Amino acid sequence: MSADPHCIFCKIVEGKIPSRKVYEDDEILAFHDINPWAPVHFLMVPKEHLPSLAQVEPRHAGLLGRMLALAPKLALQEGCRPYPEGGHRVVINTGAEGGQEVHHLHVHVMGGPRPWLKG
Ligand code: 5GP
Ligand code: ZN
Repeated sequence: MSADPHCIFCKIVEGKIPSRKVYEDDEILAFHDINPWAPVHFLMVPKEHLPSLAQVEPRHAGLLGRMLALAPKLALQEGCRPYPEGGHRVVINTGAEGGQEVHHLHVHVMGGPRPWLKG
């Protein structure tokens, strides 16, 4: 498993920076965002250091598919109401103009009653 020693999400994956864990398996970690925009706001990251969606290759297709398939299940677990009345938003910011601040691929999952702080 490759890790970037300067990457904060690699440090969270390795347990060197604490986080409030939502889910973990061999290849994926999900944890609450430190600065939530919505009543439910967690991040899903691959344990492998991948800078962004722009570096994704065909070999990552299964991993990304599993992350997307997991998002609604974890959203329900974290208190989002079911689709269609409830639901959640999934966002992957990519690059500076895409609004990406942490360069370790992450999926934002946001939900819960509106209004939200942003979005
Ligand atoms: P981006 O703008 O890169 O898409 O989102 C990065 C997200 O990571 C932001 O929503 C920010 O609040 C969150 N974040 C940054 N540093 C930490 C941290 O140390 N712990 C946690 N749990 N979230 C973080
Ligand atoms: Zn990383």
